Amino acid sequence: MYQPEMSTGLGERVALSRDLRAALIDGGGLSLHYQPQVALNNERLSGAECLMRWQHPTLGPISPAVFIPLAEERGMMLELGDWVLREACQQLAAWRQAGHPLPGRLAVNVSAHQLDVPDALTRIMSALAASDVPPADIELEVTESALMRNVEHAVSVMSQFREAGLMLSIDDFGTGYSSLSYLKRLPVERLKIDMSFVREMLTDRNDYAIVGSIVAMASPLRLDTVAEGVEHAEQAEALKNLGCVHAQGYLFGAPVDAAEFAGRWLTKGAG
Ligand code: C2E
Ligand code: CA
Ligand code: CA
Repeated sequence: MYQPEMSTGLGERVALSRDLRAALIDGGGLSLHYQPQVALNNERLSGAECLMRWQHPTLGPISPAVFIPLAEERGMMLELGDWVLREACQQLAAWRQAGHPLPGRLAVNVSAHQLDVPDALTRIMSALAASDVPPADIELEVTESALMRNVEHAVSVMSQFREAGLMLSIDDFGTGYSSLSYLKRLPVERLKIDMSFVREMLTDRNDYAIVGSIVAMASPLRLDTVAEGVEHAEQAEALKNLGCVHAQGYLFGAPVDAAEFAGRWLTKGAG
């Protein structure tokens, strides 16, 4: 896969962003993959996160760690974000119409740029309306660092989203220096514990303590928790014992395309 360190030259980034724009116009090469989230108490499907994929016509698959920052830098993130929301809602509607709806919610990543525009809520709601998807079926993931950039603005935008019935979760939680007082004011339902803490939690006592503290803090604040990057059964067991509610990671399933996701998780034998 085309990795971040391969796109350092300006000329190359310009060329790549031109190709991304072309992909956005005809939709060719862009797709969403879906990764399961499970409840740790029974390991049944409790939702999914959609993750963007870009198949470049000559370079092959490009990592989102390359093209998402590029889209942000080149002012394409709003359009890209709209595309993701529309595609995600169409897929949810298609699964529902096929008679195997996704249990729980579909989480969609939203970048800081999508929060900054005055019509942020209208854009999201029109993507939902286009496929007749109720707001309660969608969860918006915003990174902790995006929220903490301008907390007053985040509180105001998030409150609008919440009032419209959208569920909000803080992505990469633990990496962005949240102040606890802001956490109380932000209308979020869910914390996604960053995978950097989960990775070493069984060998690094500090990471274990951080994961434990996040879970211990979340519960009295009535915040739901999802651990990201769970790869080993021992991690899942430890997370469950600490009281973490949900998990996502290669142990349960990597992100896969919509057909494969439905085959594995939504049709017969699912859950
Ligand atoms: P993220 O939102 O934190 O997504 C989780 C990343 O971890 C995904 O990488 C996923 O494939 C990967 N992952 C899942 N389970 C495991 C695991 O068990 N172990 C390991 N090592 N990794 C795991 P991906 O798909 O490459 O996406 C990278 C980042 O790109 C995302 O991080 C997100 O910040 C961004 N991104 C992807 N799609 C979108 C999108 O539609 N919109 C926006 N704004 N950002 C997106
Ligand atoms: Ca995410
Ligand atoms: Ca994350």
